[in-house]
Amino acid sequence: MVIDVNEIPKEGLHIDQDFDFVSLDLVEEDAVFLEPTHAVVEVKKVGSDVRVKGRITTRLSFVCSRCLRPFEYCVDSTFDLVYLPEELDEIKDEIEEEDLEKFFYYHQQLDLREIVLEQLNLSFPLRPLCSEECEGICPVCGELIHDGSCACEVKVSDPRLEKLKSFLRDKR
Ligand SMILES: [Zn+2]
Ligand SMILES: [Zn+2]
Repeated sequence: MVIDVNEIPKEGLHIDQDFDFVSLDLVEEDAVFLEPTHAVVEVKKVGSDVRVKGRITTRLSFVCSRCLRPFEYCVDSTFDLVYLPEELDEIKDEIEEEDLEKFFYYHQQLDLREIVLEQLNLSFPLRPLCSEECEGICPVCGELIHDGSCACEVKVSDPRLEKLKSFLRDKR
């Protein structure tokens, strides 16, 4: 969905729409969409700048990076961006930094689909986890560790603890 910057009305645009992206569009390799991506976006022109403010919601299936099981991940992410005309791209370094993130639009156009996809990708966690407490897979038997259900005795060494230990050893 391409927005012509010159055609944004004074009162702005209000867009409330579903976007169908495919998993290939995502940075997260094993993610699968469980529903379309819903975006509510306000597009407003302020002088030659375009402010794009919105909220993205969707549900995906991610693969936990510890236990490798799929789990449902809900996205509810907001963004507030300012797009400047391309002419300013060249003097980018001279533009003072403000709280709002700044981007550029080219040929008087803004591709809302692209913006929503980019913001969706940015909302993903670096390492998806089914839960913060996920204990992952036992390195001995390869079974899932659930509430300590695995019978193997695994000595997990904390690298920070090891460091402290060797530090104390050296002191002696
Ligand atoms: Zn997990
Ligand atoms: Zn085990």
